Amino acid sequence: MGSNKEVIIIGGGVIGLACAHYLIDIGANVRIIEKNEIGSGASHGNCGLLYFSDVITLCSPGIVSHEIARTLKGTSPLYIKPTLDHKLLIWLLKFASKCNASHMTQAAKDKYEILNYSISLFDTLLAMDGMSCDFEKKGILSVFKDQKNFEKHQTINDFLSTYNMGARRIDKKELLELEPALRNDIAGAWLHENDWHLKPDMLLASWRKQLSKKGLIIEEHCKLLGFETNGNTVVGVNTIKGSFKADAFVLATGAWAPQTLKQLKLDLPVQPGKGYSITMERPGICPTYPCSLYEKSMVATPWKSGYRLGGTMEFSGYDDKLNPKRLSKLISGATAFLKDPVGHPVIEEWTSFRPMTYDDLPIIDRAPSKENLIIATGHGMLGLTLATGTGKLVSDMVYGKTPEIDIAPFGISRFR
Ligand SMILES: Cc1cc2nc3c(=O)[nH]c(=O)nc-3n(C[C@H](O)[C@H](O)[C@H](O)COP(=O)(O)OP(=O)(O)OC[C@H]3O[C@@H](n4cnc5c(N)ncnc54)[C@H](O)[C@@H]3O)c2cc1C
Repeated sequence: MGSNKEVIIIGGGVIGLACAHYLIDIGANVRIIEKNEIGSGASHGNCGLLYFSDVITLCSPGIVSHEIARTLKGTSPLYIKPTLDHKLLIWLLKFASKCNASHMTQAAKDKYEILNYSISLFDTLLAMDGMSCDFEKKGILSVFKDQKNFEKHQTINDFLSTYNMGARRIDKKELLELEPALRNDIAGAWLHENDWHLKPDMLLASWRKQLSKKGLIIEEHCKLLGFETNGNTVVGVNTIKGSFKADAFVLATGAWAPQTLKQLKLDLPVQPGKGYSITMERPGICPTYPCSLYEKSMVATPWKSGYRLGGTMEFSGYDDKLNPKRLSKLISGATAFLKDPVGHPVIEEWTSFRPMTYDDLPIIDRAPSKENLIIATGHGMLGLTLATGTGKLVSDMVYGKTPEIDIAPFGISRFR
């Protein structure tokens, strides 16, 4: 196969850019087609954690009863809009069916492979000239308000340690010295020393710039309308700006993947998991570590250039309105853990959709009946973290090279 293939990537989020990066590296001519602007979807205002140690899937034993109990108490960050949408209902039932120890154990192995693969690729990427994104390799603090929850985390940590992803236990006294921004009434924390963080919008802006210098063509405000096909290959895409031909295609439309695949009659179980964030100037007493606030299932991320609170998970379709109640939950959640939870002024209140699969594993595979269309979506809560691994796997698949890790767990056939 020649190295100068023409490749079209649909979707300009972090997954689309990562695919472009490794495809250009291998010698492809790449064009990205994006319906809005590069980095305007979930990749813009997320919490910025490179959470390599997060090998445990969201669907884990006990999570359903735990969330029902929290919903009844009004303390859950999860909201499911009452609905008759049968796709969402089936998705939720399948999610519940995956909340068992055997799925968690197998999926952790699969997740570990791609998380671990992404680390060294990120190391090389972030060392590249011109990549400016407030990147720090400090670790992430998983902070607990309740002593029982803090102690119970030992079991999870033992599990993570089997993958060399264990955290260091930090009791209250040491914690308050290490992170003086935390309130005195917290119980303790686990420090995930091998995790990193960066500012996602800055990453996307500088990555775009570097890739454009290397020849990436970007078509913004260029919504995909459909595919032109010939038997089992895709030959082109129709967009609101006209049609474009290529040798290979990558679909990286995140939570919108099901909509963009309708024409090909490929029904992927990806649901939009709505999340929120508030970006502010750094507060007077700003955390020095990114803090995952356990009981509130949210994150406070500090950067040199700002500060963000992010979290919540809403299953309410593609309604992109900002719900003030969800935003205020982020503030009250942070107030329970931090001395000075809010910075002034607020720079941005934001919402977008995580591409959620019910087994919490990404989808990286060829479209079943279209061999030159590769799908890369379903990265859920970890799309930023998994971007480099995904991009490299996709570029190898486009060039018919054997991927460096087993991609079978990320295949589409698992949903049949
Ligand atoms: C509140 C919140 C916090 C998060 N925190 C983290 C974190 O700390 N760490 C982490 O690893 N992950 C985090 N995530 C998850 C992460 O943001 C996502 O998994 C990731 O951004 C998905 O990337 P993507 O490129 O697949 O999707 P997106 O960034 O959504 O990109 C998809 C793109 O496709 C475009 N598109 C859609 N339809 C079409 C069409 N018809 N034609 C052309 N273009 C189209 C969209 O406009 C969009 O730009 C968080 C998410 C949220 C919501």
